[in-house]
Amino acid sequence: MEAVYRALREQCTAYGATLIAVSKRQSAAGIQTLYDRGHRDFGENYVQELCEKRLLLPSDIRWHFIGHLQRNKVKYIAPFIASIQSVDTEALLGEIQNQARKYQRIIPVLLQVHIAREAQKFGFNREDEAVLKQLIHTNPDYSNVKVQGLMGMATFTEDSAQIRAEYRDLKALWMRLNEDNNNLTVLSMGMSGDFEIALAEGATMVRLGSLLFGARPKS
Ligand SMILES: *Cc1c(COP(=O)(O)O)cnc(C)c1O
Repeated sequence: MEAVYRALREQCTAYGATLIAVSKRQSAAGIQTLYDRGHRDFGENYVQELCEKRLLLPSDIRWHFIGHLQRNKVKYIAPFIASIQSVDTEALLGEIQNQARKYQRIIPVLLQVHIAREAQKFGFNREDEAVLKQLIHTNPDYSNVKVQGLMGMATFTEDSAQIRAEYRDLKALWMRLNEDNNNLTVLSMGMSGDFEIALAEGATMVRLGSLLFGARPKS
């Protein structure tokens, strides 16, 4: 794990990209191992699992939420979450705003955009640029959230041209949304199977699970 971790971290650094270690279904011990090598940014998909594991681990870990998030569960992670990358509806953003205000925090978020061909993946429609634009522009209704950028997942396929095209699309959208106010700093795209394509296409953040930890234990 050590050599793999170092190589991946160097690869991300070469592109100026942040590495999120996706630790869903990994044990607290596995996370601690990576922590001991100096890693601090971890991504989790399930609220209950995150809240349980967090208590077993150092308090300076930055936890990023990357899974589908139900509105009624925002309250459990709002006090501590470092970012929520899977904001896929305006209603969810509104609830994050409510909870963030309650805890007197500003929560960094990414808007998840649906770029894959598969129908089941969550996210804003990438044709809804007007909606996205409205949500990223300084909006007094959302003074406790900071929209930092976009997150996307490519189609699960061996077809690298397809993946590249989807990531390129997301980057182009990110650039357009950044045209009149350059406040989107994060483009979170790339997983274990496709992160090299994502880095080449301009990801500023990749989310790697199985490459770092090995195959996930079945839940
Ligand atoms: C699980 C997951 C990842 C990591 O997947 P790997 O293929 O194990 O690298 C990245 N992003 C999201 C949103 C995930 O759910």
